[in-house]
Amino acid sequence: MDKLVEAKERLIKYYIRSGILKSEEVIKAFKKVPREVFVLPEYINQAYSDVPLPIGYGQTISAPHMVCMYAEYLRLKPGLKVLEIGAGSGYNAAVMAEMVSPSHLPREKWGHVYSLEIVPELCEFARVNLRRAGYDDRVTVICRDGGLGFPEKAPFDRIAITAAAPNIPPPLIEQLSDKGALLIPLGSSFFQRLVLVKKVKREIVRDELSSVAFVPLKGKYGWTMT
Ligand code: SAH
Repeated sequence: MDKLVEAKERLIKYYIRSGILKSEEVIKAFKKVPREVFVLPEYINQAYSDVPLPIGYGQTISAPHMVCMYAEYLRLKPGLKVLEIGAGSGYNAAVMAEMVSPSHLPREKWGHVYSLEIVPELCEFARVNLRRAGYDDRVTVICRDGGLGFPEKAPFDRIAITAAAPNIPPPLIEQLSDKGALLIPLGSSFFQRLVLVKKVKREIVRDELSSVAFVPLKGKYGWTMT
């Protein structure tokens, strides 16, 4: 376990030095959430290597720097309602939950993360991991095609899509609140640009950020139906 603590501290120092971690809030959230709880047992020793790791079903838990970048770009604050598309391991949802519902704040100030996942086995994997890490009261995992969003709880202050899409699924734009922000990898099913989409006076403003490589989105607005 000490080795993991050391590896995590080393990674945090490196992220701060290289400008990946910037704000105190993201640093705190990254420190707090145990990535080792969200990886498969055979990868525990690599929990703080800066790489995506397999979680089964052809999917991966994102590299830790990507999770930090999402949290920085989305400017998450306590009280916000967040939608994630692609729960996977549940790790990114937990880091976002630590920012919108920080452990040290009373529950009435908490926001919530709704995370959609299309692979039923991964819904269960994410739920179990979130329970073990103590985030099941701040994250709700729903098993469905995330391209359709979650109209039952819309609008959302932030929407984080963690799978690569050919275009922004229209239901997600509809379910984004005024002044909301959405982060999505757009491009081919191999390489994409990370795009930050904001609603400013009901107009859509797009900002291209960096090159990324996410697994492809499935479902109605993805590359394959299943
Ligand atoms: N955020 C995850 C990693 C995402 S990997 C983590 O922190 O571990 C991308 C995930 O998106 C995979 O689990 C994949 O099954 C899921 N996915 C792909 N298409 C989807 C869709 N249309 N709706 C919901 N989830 C989808």
